[in-house]
Amino acid sequence: MKVKKDFKTYRKENKEMIYDNHLDLCKSCGLCIEFCPVNCIKYHEKNLGRFGSPAIDADLDICIKCGMCERICPDAAISIEIKKARAKKEKVVNK
Ligand code: SF4
Ligand code: SF4
Repeated sequence: MKVKKDFKTYRKENKEMIYDNHLDLCKSCGLCIEFCPVNCIKYHEKNLGRFGSPAIDADLDICIKCGMCERICPDAAISIEIKKARAKKEKVVNK
């Protein structure tokens, strides 16, 4: 069976992180919206998910990079990457 690898992805990025919503996987269930502790995810005004209903949009200015949305998504439709410079700094601070 051929596995599809190239997902259509909506990427947002700032100095600290890369936030991907894989549109071909997102089923618009709203779990990430419900569980985000700072309410920074909403449905996107234009992007559509797997079933033609709205995909999601995260406000990276508010996001605290907790990773909850990535963990809670039942379809692995969110990928978060914390940029290394920042991660290193946090590691030093946490020592
Ligand atoms: S939890 Fe996953 S599938 Fe559900 S709306 Fe969020 S990104 Fe889409
Ligand atoms: S990483 Fe945390 S704060 Fe950021 S969008 Fe996901 S759940 Fe919300």
